[in-house]
Amino acid sequence: MIDWDNIAEEAAQLLSAYLKIKSINPPGNEQETAEYLGQCLAERGMNSTIYPSGEQRANLLTRLPGDGSKRPILLYNHMDVVEADAHRWRDDPYSGAIRDGYVWGRGALDMKGMGIMQLLAMDLLRQHHPQRTRDIIFLAAADEEKGGQFGAQWMIDHHAAEIEAEYMWDEGGFGLRDFFDPRPVFTVSVAEKKEVWLKVIAHGEPGHSGMPHENNAADILLRALTKIMALNAKFELHPVAARMFSAIGSLKTFPQSFLLKHLNNPLIFRLLLPTLKKDKTISAMLRDTLSITVLRAGDKENIIPERAEATLDIRLLPDRDPQVFVDQLIKLIGDPRIEIEFLQLPQKRVVTELNTEFFQTLCEVLHEQVPESIPAPLLSPGTTDSSFFRQLGVQAYGLVPAILTPDELARFHGVDERISIENLRLGTRIIYEVLVRMCA
Ligand SMILES: [Zn+2]
Repeated sequence: MIDWDNIAEEAAQLLSAYLKIKSINPPGNEQETAEYLGQCLAERGMNSTIYPSGEQRANLLTRLPGDGSKRPILLYNHMDVVEADAHRWRDDPYSGAIRDGYVWGRGALDMKGMGIMQLLAMDLLRQHHPQRTRDIIFLAAADEEKGGQFGAQWMIDHHAAEIEAEYMWDEGGFGLRDFFDPRPVFTVSVAEKKEVWLKVIAHGEPGHSGMPHENNAADILLRALTKIMALNAKFELHPVAARMFSAIGSLKTFPQSFLLKHLNNPLIFRLLLPTLKKDKTISAMLRDTLSITVLRAGDKENIIPERAEATLDIRLLPDRDPQVFVDQLIKLIGDPRIEIEFLQLPQKRVVTELNTEFFQTLCEVLHEQVPESIPAPLLSPGTTDSSFFRQLGVQAYGLVPAILTPDELARFHGVDERISIENLRLGTRIIYEVLVRMCA
């Protein structure tokens, strides 16, 4: 029998020490975190390899072997964290304090806490289930918060064979309590939006602003942007979002239950849209979003600018073709004085399948461990390293198996980030139970 109280305490201690290591990206400093995790693994009798990927940058990999009759599962976590504004925190963000049933510090949720859950779950699997059908690969990566050049991308470029897997378990969603319902909804990310960064450049003619003419670059740019930004008002229901709302519908009573389960009906979608789009996360799941992030034109009060430019951050729904979208944009603007420059054009991305052994097993375990909860697939408005692996054909699922209230979720990338010891216990147990079944 596993003593889960003991495991929870062990997880808290390991996480506390892990949070004390400052791995703020930039610069990352994952060499130190990798050494720490390598030592935790060694103390439990598991060898690991550290792959340096840059100055003080490193990835850590370990493999718990199975008999190879099934393909591996990749337990993926990243070791870098985002900055913390220490003045606004109650404690030092890198204190790793254990207080009031929580472990406090930057990275507790994103995602050092899950790294520890995965490490302990894998160790329990090793101890209690010596016969396994699959290899479990544990990859603690660098550089997730800055795009993965020294982390996921680097590992794929240099060690692809070592991380080849059928399934990947990454961050993405959480168990959310009091969001949709008092009962927790475990949102499992299976698709992500794509980031397209564009520069829209207007070419005009200079002149004296006391005698305006038709070729003021600022005017040309403003007209183009007005047309482009109108696309933000175009909403549609992606199949993953439809599945999510349908799952949430099962928690509700009539008529909400009926409406959410039948959002695929265009009339019902139109009826509910005003309510749905009030939430900015949900709103982002239902459309391509376009945001102007940089705007530049002119530098003198009385001179008409000959050049004006805007940078756009566009997030496309998962199965959109970025090139086709941009071609349509150019057509919509319909002005040869506008030039579009790509700053970042993503590859086409894939949506993870839902009818897999992994997803089914995960749903079963979630139901057993938290009977009042429901699972729901999530179309994530943000991006994680899962997208690199989906490109390779890996079925990637994003879920930190912890139950958070809105207040706790707001601490993610925010102030006073923390994870409860109860969640460390729950998460480790969920990962362990899934691994046991997947390796049987
Ligand atoms: Zn993260």
